[in-house]
Amino acid sequence: MSEKNWSGNVAYGESSLQRPRTLDELQEVVGRATSVRALGSRHSFNTIAATSGTLISLDRLDSPIEIDSASMSVRVGAGVRYGELGAHLQQHGFALANLASLPHISVAGATATATHGSGDRNGNLATSVRSLTVVQADGSLIEVSRGDADFDGYVVGLGALGIITALTLDIEPTFDVAVSVFEHLPWSALDDHFDEITSAAYSVSLFTNWVNDAVDQVWLKQRVGRHAALGAGAGADAGSAGGASADAGSADAGAGADAVGDFFGARPSSVPLHPLPDVAADACTDQLGVPGAWIDRLPHFRLDFTPSKGDELQSEYLIPREHALAAIDALRALGHRIAPLLFVSEIRTIAADPFWLSTASGRDSVALHFTWKPQQPDVEALLPDLERALAPFGARPHWGKVFATDAAALAPLYDRLPDFVRLADRVDPTGTFRNPFLRATLFGA
Ligand SMILES: Cc1cc2nc3c(=O)[nH]c(=O)nc-3n(C[C@H](O)[C@H](O)[C@H](O)COP(=O)(O)OP(=O)(O)OC[C@H]3O[C@@H](n4cnc5c(N)ncnc54)[C@H](O)[C@@H]3O)c2cc1C
Repeated sequence: MSEKNWSGNVAYGESSLQRPRTLDELQEVVGRATSVRALGSRHSFNTIAATSGTLISLDRLDSPIEIDSASMSVRVGAGVRYGELGAHLQQHGFALANLASLPHISVAGATATATHGSGDRNGNLATSVRSLTVVQADGSLIEVSRGDADFDGYVVGLGALGIITALTLDIEPTFDVAVSVFEHLPWSALDDHFDEITSAAYSVSLFTNWVNDAVDQVWLKQRVGRHAALGAGAGADAGSAGGASADAGSADAGAGADAVGDFFGARPSSVPLHPLPDVAADACTDQLGVPGAWIDRLPHFRLDFTPSKGDELQSEYLIPREHALAAIDALRALGHRIAPLLFVSEIRTIAADPFWLSTASGRDSVALHFTWKPQQPDVEALLPDLERALAPFGARPHWGKVFATDAAALAPLYDRLPDFVRLADRVDPTGTFRNPFLRATLFGA
C-alpha cells in the first residue's frame, strides 16, 4: 500500500518503505538501491519526497540529542522533530533562533526545503545548520560543514544530494517570547508603514483573505526578559513607532491585552485567536502577551494538536522584500478568485541567506502564503494565474508546497542552480536521489 503525506493529497508511490534502526543498515540499504528518497515527517504538499524506488524513513534510527555548550551547538538525528528538540534544549537552558509555524516537522525535512518562520532579521531554519552528515549514493558517509566549498549547496539540498543522518545546529541561551494579536489593520497602514510593521517585533505575521477591507490579524512575537536583545530585530522598542502604542514588546510584556493600545490602527484582541476565522484557538500557542519559553511561543501551533486546519493544501511564494507592496496589490486584485478557495493567507518576512537553492537566497524576502481548501483541481487551475501575477517580482515557490512553476521558469530565479546541478552530477552521477519532481523542477528529463 502506498504511503501518504500529512495532508493526504500525495501518495509517495508504490515504493518499499525502509526504516533502518542503525547507521550500518541505512548505509547498506542506500548502497544497494538504484533509486532512493528520504522521508521526513511528511508535511510537504507535493511529490518532492515521492519515488517508485526505495523510500527511507529515519524515525527508528537511534538519534540522541547532544548539546555542546562550549561551541553553542547541538547535534541531532535527522528525523528529530523541532518540538522534541526544542523541549530538550529548553530543559537545558538553550534555544534555536527561530521556528516555523508548527513544531511537528523534522529538522532534516524542514531544512532541506528552506522552511522558514518570520522576522526581518531571522534567516530560515536552514541558516542555523553548522554541519551535515550525509549518506552518499554508494553508501559511504561524509561530513559537510560551514566553510566547506559545497556547504551552501548541501544545506537546502531537496534530498537530491544524499540522505542526511545528523545535523549540527547553532544554539543560543534560552529566551522568552510574548505573543500579542491585533485585529483589522487597515491596508493603508500597511502601505504607509510596511517596514515599521514587519520590524515591530522579533517575528511578525499578517493574516488576510485578500478581500476584506483590512488585514484580519497581526501577530507580534516579541523577545522579552533575559537575553531579549540577543538577535532581536526592533524588539525592545516595538510598537512605539508610527504612533502605535502597543507595548507588547517591552521587557515587561505580559501585563495582558488590557494594557496594550492600538497597533497602527489595529485593535488588540482580548481573546486568543486562531489564524483561521471561526476556528477555536485551542491548537494555538499562548497569546495575550503572556511571556513563555521560545519553544512554546515561536510556533503558532502546539505539538500535541493538529496544526492549521488539517484538511488543506498550501502554496507559498517568496519575493524580494522591496516588491512586497506591489505584490500584495497584485494579489488583492486577484482576491475575488483567491478567496473562495482559501482558508487563510499569511505574510511573513525572512532575512537573506547564502544557500544556492534557498527561497531566500541572496534576497531579504517577503513570503506570501496560502492555506487552501482541499480542492486540488480548483487550486491547480488558479495557480498559473496567481503565479503570472507574481512573476514580475521574481516569485520563488516554496519547495514543499503546491506550485505550477516549471524548470524553465525556476532556472532564472536561482543564480547558483547550475552549481547545484554540477554538484549533484558529481556526487550522484547515476541519479540515485532523483525523482520525477526533481527532474521536472531542476534537472530536466
Ligand atoms: C500545517 C503545516 C504548516 C507549515 N508551516 C510552514 C511554515 O511555517 N514555514 C514553512 O516554510 N513551511 C511550512 N510548512 C511546510 C513544511 O515545513 C515543509 O514542507 C517541510 O519540508 C516539512 O518537513 P518534513 O520533515 O515533513 O519533510 P518531508 O515533507 O517529509 O520531506 C521534504 C523533503 O525533505 C527531504 N528529506 C527529508 N528528510 C531527509 C533526510 N534525512 N535527508 C535528505 N532529505 C530529506 C525529502 O526527501 C523531501 O524532499 C508547513 C506544512 C504544514 C503541513
